[in-house]
Amino acid sequence: SSGGRGVVISDNWPGYSLDLFTYPQHYYGDLEYVLIPHGIIVDRTERLAKDIMQDIGDNDIVVLCVLKGGYKFCADLVEHIKNLSRNSERFISMKVDFVRLKSYHNVLIVEDIVGTGRTMKVLLNNIEKYKPKMIKVASLLVKRTSRPDGYRPDYYGFEIPDLFVVGYALDYNEHFRDLNHICVINDHGKAKYRV
Ligand code: 5GP
Repeated sequence: SSGGRGVVISDNWPGYSLDLFTYPQHYYGDLEYVLIPHGIIVDRTERLAKDIMQDIGDNDIVVLCVLKGGYKFCADLVEHIKNLSRNSERFISMKVDFVRLKSYHNVLIVEDIVGTGRTMKVLLNNIEKYKPKMIKVASLLVKRTSRPDGYRPDYYGFEIPDLFVVGYALDYNEHFRDLNHICVINDHGKAKYRV
């Protein structure tokens, strides 16, 4: 599909000051900056939905949401695909499931983030046992890691630096899922929520 490497966020991107946006008061002092504001995530997700429609419209698919971090991206992506389906001649009939393995025909795996790609490779090996007709992977984020053989999903929203990010359902020890923007956590935040 089009889009190449997604929206590329370079290593020297300083991000946005937290003072420019709103975020929950209980995270004041815990974050370094906003890496990707919520609105841009949603806009980019809309375009991914369009690309997916183009490639696999007129098919029945199972959208497999990888819990827990994938639930926001999955919900928004499914919503956009539904809207596009309603307003065009192409359609996708979707069933949504969470990673629980049984037999699937066409599978769209929806993940939050691909780091080294190890997690996705294990999941793909598991799902391939069920011999689905088609497997596609959509991930909101892909980290630029030093590994040249790094796994690349079929669709992704953003390529980001090798940083630990939280927000938009991505957590640090179960915290920050209720933050809308994708942010970089600071040392204070790390210490506060360390287990
Ligand atoms: P991988 O196996 O690709 O290195 O890591 C993938 C998994 O690690 C993701 O599904 C996610 O749960 C977790 N992960 C990797 N990087 C981050 C990050 O920057 N923030 C958060 N919250 N989780 C991450």
